[in-house]
Amino acid sequence: MKPKIEILEESNFKIKFILKSVSPALANSFRRAMKAHVPTLAVDYVDFYVNSSYLYDEIIAHRLGMLPIKTDLEKFNMQSECVCGGEGCPNCQISFRLNVEGPKVVYSGDFISDDPDIVFAIDNIPVLELFEGQQLMLEAVARLGTGREHAKFQPVSVCAYKIIPEITITDDCNKCKDCIEACPRDVFEFEDNRIKVKDVLKCSLCMECVKVCEQNALRVEETDSYLFTVEATGALPLRVVMRKALEILKNKAEEMNRIIEEIQ
Ligand SMILES: [Zn+2]
Repeated sequence: MKPKIEILEESNFKIKFILKSVSPALANSFRRAMKAHVPTLAVDYVDFYVNSSYLYDEIIAHRLGMLPIKTDLEKFNMQSECVCGGEGCPNCQISFRLNVEGPKVVYSGDFISDDPDIVFAIDNIPVLELFEGQQLMLEAVARLGTGREHAKFQPVSVCAYKIIPEITITDDCNKCKDCIEACPRDVFEFEDNRIKVKDVLKCSLCMECVKVCEQNALRVEETDSYLFTVEATGALPLRVVMRKALEILKNKAEEMNRIIEEIQ
């Protein structure tokens, strides 16, 4: 069977899908590619002109690094591959400016970006509070990077999967219902005078049901399907993250093929 993705739930910040007919290695590569190889923009250095707040420059810079930025992968190059040779130019970096005075709570939405399309993904994240007479004036510069380099570049905050099992109840079942009691995740139900699997996706393969079944009428087996749960930071739409991750895997596989062919 060909590998397939079946989407179960989808919203702007969360997606649940089943990845079918793949090896554990491919499922894990997909997870890792989404987390560590799909690039996003993040603040990488900050020039402070005035900072009379209660916080040190470093603490503010660190907080700015954590703010997800709406990323357009078509607009920016990785600095290592840019025509500027990594020095920084409009093709590979973008500035966010701020000049505010207290009393005021500074939010992510207060920063002015060089490009109106590239802004902080969420505009109401509090960064710090300025009190009477305090001022903050800075320029934060963001660039593309990957989660492999630093977690701030990850496009996903959650990216996890579990194996979907296949549960079989044989004719040896004496309907004692012990498995319904034993299951901590409410996988089974009793309907039409027999035990049924209500929701196989909830099963965590803990095998408690198999342990209590005196008739040995239950089988819980691993399949080659995986239930993925992915949550976005807001930097990239989840479908873009998935497509980009698969593209990266494809390129890596092609590169591997090329190396193999060279050996022969
Ligand atoms: Zn550049």
